[in-house]
Amino acid sequence: MRITCVGGGPAGLYFATLAKLANPEHEVTVLERNPSGVTWGWGVVFWDDLLDDLFTYDPVSAQRIWDAAYKWDEYEVRATGKPDTHLAGYGFSMGRHRLLEILGERAAEVGVRVSYSDELTDPADLPPADLIVACDGARSRIREQHAEHFGAEVEIARNKYIWLGTPKVFDTFTFGFEKTEAGWVWFHAYPFNGTTSTFIVECTPATWAALEFGSLSAEAGCARLQSIFAAHLDGSPLVDHRAEVGGTGWLNFRRVTAQRWDHGNVVLMGDSAHTTHFAIGSGTKLALQDAMALADAIAAGDDLPVALERYEHRRKAALAPLQRAARASSAWFERMPEYAELPARRFSYALSNRRGEYPTWRYLLHLSTQSTIPRALLRWTLSARRSSRARRRETTDSVAAARAIPHTA
Ligand SMILES: Cc1cc2nc3c(=O)[nH]c(=O)nc-3n(C[C@H](O)[C@H](O)[C@H](O)COP(=O)(O)OP(=O)(O)OC[C@H]3O[C@@H](n4cnc5c(N)ncnc54)[C@H](O)[C@@H]3O)c2cc1C
Repeated sequence: MRITCVGGGPAGLYFATLAKLANPEHEVTVLERNPSGVTWGWGVVFWDDLLDDLFTYDPVSAQRIWDAAYKWDEYEVRATGKPDTHLAGYGFSMGRHRLLEILGERAAEVGVRVSYSDELTDPADLPPADLIVACDGARSRIREQHAEHFGAEVEIARNKYIWLGTPKVFDTFTFGFEKTEAGWVWFHAYPFNGTTSTFIVECTPATWAALEFGSLSAEAGCARLQSIFAAHLDGSPLVDHRAEVGGTGWLNFRRVTAQRWDHGNVVLMGDSAHTTHFAIGSGTKLALQDAMALADAIAAGDDLPVALERYEHRRKAALAPLQRAARASSAWFERMPEYAELPARRFSYALSNRRGEYPTWRYLLHLSTQSTIPRALLRWTLSARRSSRARRRETTDSVAAARAIPHTA
């Protein structure tokens, strides 16, 4: 089978690798408009569930991702006028650059042709292929070309956000809320290697306008944010990648949905089919899981329309609860100022329960783990769970490696 993936993001590179692993006879090409090593954004977070899947599908790249992952083991919540509080939980993070480097090298290693600096400007120019995978991101040109068929819709979220980086290495995943004269401004920050943290800033449109971010250059905007968040940055700068191209990175999140994901031999995957608000940090995970599902569907050997239908069905079912969670989560941040007067512990609990799904015992646990000893015990327990899950993955790794590609439903 000749397969062309348009877009060398996580979805495209990972699907290409899995397709080639499943059948080395496939001719698989990835077209990526950026040069090798160039991408947008900073670090992304993920959790054990993704690692489990990665180890099942390709233990080699999974091990490299695991080795490079930055591990953090708590959430800290800071807000003007309140004592700091803590939320239980652990996770992993990694720079997009590093993730794409690992996935790109792995794809090339298994025989995928990855063509960098190769932008598809007109989908009609695509060389003939049995399967064309549109994994060209949230603004997919291929999806736009057949917008009516795919039934794509883009909903613009209300809040303003900017995805920055900083050399300040936060101890753990940190939410910081600062009250300014113009209203609340907050950040979601997490370290993703030993030298850099992601720093996403968000605020309501009214606060954004009052702070005049729309008329400031990238440098001036970062300087203003540095002064708002000075207490958290220990003198470190905030960096806006967009400054290099003369722009500024303030955006509104674009929630993309598509009613249909396939059109003849063309199929949407990852952000081109659906985006998921960064408030639940799951877009990369979902893109990679799309890749797993599409690889399974193709490997099953049915006719292409049946395979694509099966892929779409499986992924839409898996996505639905996360999409609901992402909506609830982003809506909480849109209403954030309404929660600002809550006392510290209730405020951080409201933040952690922003999807509104927790049973009452979680609140009691939250209260008790604000004290040092119960908190240390909980961290120790979670850390033991993380290690035990990692050990289990390593033992199943050798079994998975012996299989070409699993077929999970
Ligand atoms: C602020 C923010 C924070 C986030 N944080 C997280 C997080 O913590 N965890 C998480 O899991 N997810 C996170 N995400 C989401 C995540 O970044 C995306 O969901 C993920 O990158 C989707 O992968 P993809 O491969 O589908 O698309 P992309 O990563 O967008 O890749 C698409 C690729 O296609 C290329 N391309 C586009 N058009 C063409 C063309 N015409 N020709 C050739 N190449 C083309 C692009 O250059 C790009 O490399 C975050 C997103 C945002 C905005």
